[in-house]
Amino acid sequence: MRKYVIMGVPGSGKSTQAAMLARDLDLVRITVGDIFRWHVQQRTKIGAHVRRTMAAGKLVDDDLVESIVQERLQLHDWNYGFIIDGFPRSRDQAEFFLESYDIDAVIYLDLPDSDVRRRVLARRLCARCGMDYNLIADRPTVEGRCDVCGGDLVPRADDTEEALVVRLREYHDKTDPVLEIFRRKECVVVIDARPDEVTVQQEIRRQLGLPEYVAKDD
Ligand code: AMP
Repeated sequence: MRKYVIMGVPGSGKSTQAAMLARDLDLVRITVGDIFRWHVQQRTKIGAHVRRTMAAGKLVDDDLVESIVQERLQLHDWNYGFIIDGFPRSRDQAEFFLESYDIDAVIYLDLPDSDVRRRVLARRLCARCGMDYNLIADRPTVEGRCDVCGGDLVPRADDTEEALVVRLREYHDKTDPVLEIFRRKECVVVIDARPDEVTVQQEIRRQLGLPEYVAKDD
């Protein structure tokens, strides 16, 4: 059983790296941002509550985030473990989480703020299936169309210049202290997030003592 948290500024590649790890190690991947985006897309009550906060780049209130994560983890479908992406993002969330769960490692993807803008503004998401693309490193075969389902590729509502300034500020104000909490427990691996995705994945595995990543066609 492996329990990991993956952290890093917006655009540092958390979701790509978490997906690569989860697929090979049979981990359940829990992405809090995706859960909220699903609620917004489905126009649920939670979606209505978080839509504006998200679009502005602000963090959703701790109580709601904690209950969403708790509910997800209480499904106990993670027989081989889990990797959580996008949580905890505040001191409160970290303390709440550590009260109930021991984690094996925090993977911290280190990317300078100066690289964030270029990466985030190139990001596109399929409006139908949620698959993500990057116009720099991971282009779709047909411009503007999802390779998997043919849906329209659109920017995320919060991948704008204005929201990005707020997201980075929120990150440094509220999420940097989380890393300090984890560091005291000595379970943080710091990974340079600037190289290509396979190099980053190999480095994560090397530092965690996991088998090497082998690319698969699927
Ligand atoms: P992400 O996809 O991880 O960038 O998350 C998108 C947005 O969802 C964030 O900008 C927040 O508005 C919200 N969100 C995701 N995870 C959290 C969290 N742990 N705490 C508060 N807000 C969150």
